[in-house]
Amino acid sequence: MVRRTALVLLTIVMFTACARPTPERRVVDDAAAALGGAERLLAVKTVVIEGEGTHYNLGQDIAPGVSGQTFAVTQYKRAIDVPGERARTELTRVPKFNYWQGLAAQRQVQGIDKAVGYNVAPSGAASRVAPAAADDRRAELLRYPIMAVRAAIDPAARLSNLRTAEGESTVDVLTSDGRAFTLAIDAATKLPTRVASPANNVNLGDVVVSTTFADYQNVGGLQLPTRLTTRTDDFTTAEVRVARQAVDGDAGDLAAPAAAASASAPAPQPPNVTAEEVSQGVWLLAGGSHHSALVEFSDHLMLVDAPQNDARTLAVIAKARELRPGKPLTHVVNSHHHFDHSGGVRAAVAEGLTVITHHGNTAFIEEIVKRPHTRVPDALSKNPRPLKIEAVADEKVIADDMMTVHLYPAPGEHSETMLMAYLPRQRALIVIDVYEPGEGVHMFAGRFLEDLKKRNLRVERIVPLHGKIVPYAQFVKDAAGPAS
Ligand SMILES: [Zn+2]
Repeated sequence: MVRRTALVLLTIVMFTACARPTPERRVVDDAAAALGGAERLLAVKTVVIEGEGTHYNLGQDIAPGVSGQTFAVTQYKRAIDVPGERARTELTRVPKFNYWQGLAAQRQVQGIDKAVGYNVAPSGAASRVAPAAADDRRAELLRYPIMAVRAAIDPAARLSNLRTAEGESTVDVLTSDGRAFTLAIDAATKLPTRVASPANNVNLGDVVVSTTFADYQNVGGLQLPTRLTTRTDDFTTAEVRVARQAVDGDAGDLAAPAAAASASAPAPQPPNVTAEEVSQGVWLLAGGSHHSALVEFSDHLMLVDAPQNDARTLAVIAKARELRPGKPLTHVVNSHHHFDHSGGVRAAVAEGLTVITHHGNTAFIEEIVKRPHTRVPDALSKNPRPLKIEAVADEKVIADDMMTVHLYPAPGEHSETMLMAYLPRQRALIVIDVYEPGEGVHMFAGRFLEDLKKRNLRVERIVPLHGKIVPYAQFVKDAAGPAS
């Protein structure tokens, strides 16, 4: 009797569990029904999306927090192998602003084939991307209504944390293979409005990357969005406007090219830091794509630029201390806010350095120093230190018996919040990005030369933080443009 009651109870519980889905499950089921039904969703093989759009310049715009610089995207094509979890995006983008590489169209081909992320260069050469980039592309695969809802209706997915606000119902999803994302659906139409995934950004730390969906259309019995907008936190990074799309058509071969599939995933290489003495008490710390400079005062050392990431900047700091072990390294000049030149600022703060920057970057530096980096802990999150910061408005002169450095704002075509360092005794100018010796295109050199003439600086050598040291005459020649 007892046993029989237990069996009946168990049956009732099971029946109730089946008959009454959790509120989270109901949201996901509603979304599946709105998109065309679970059965149709599970039968989809391919989707091919074509159109155009816009890319923005996260971390590389003219000043912190603005998003005026865009690339016009044409010939956009994204092909998705839905059950195979593979996708390839091909596009052409044209900078609509004075881009440092020039205004020519750039072709991009990027793909993901399960765990293998790859790029295909215009030459046709395929290369495998780093594991973190491949993870981002796997997350991107899920930021598409069909893929997200297919993953969410999987009985092995864990659904939680239903909330409803501003006409949206939102559910957190943990896929059967451990990927987390948030699915939002429109309370009225039940169509997905947004998929958001947690991510790591070297500069910003913990971020949320989201794609929003709008203007759905019926294609082959499925509702597909025709406008997709992707953001990193609040910053819009990409918009796609769909012109044509097809379900279960020919998506082409979406397997990773053999050269990428057979390659091992690139592992981070230990940074190479070389020291070239520019003059007594001045070194160029090169050895990679992004250099720093070291300047020696009577009782302390100052670094110019903390680029790229923890690994690069910590290696540069170690080299500086090795060159002059008797003097404390106390300051770092942040040349400008661009992510590739501010990626090591947090490491410099962790090492106790005071940051000197253009006053237009103060709020930005304060923000990046305080942001949480819990997903991929960095030097500062492991060794928290308070930020010490000094802002430069028009000019800052740092001088003692041994060394004089003038910090000036550089002309603003590349960044409106950029500093350059003039060393009058050495007649050297440390510059970044407004002039890169050895490049074929010098977008900003002409205006930069005008600016230098107005300042009446006596410069004999340009010490660039990309490229090689050149005499001033070479700079003047490059600034004049290619000989016709
Ligand atoms: Zn820059």
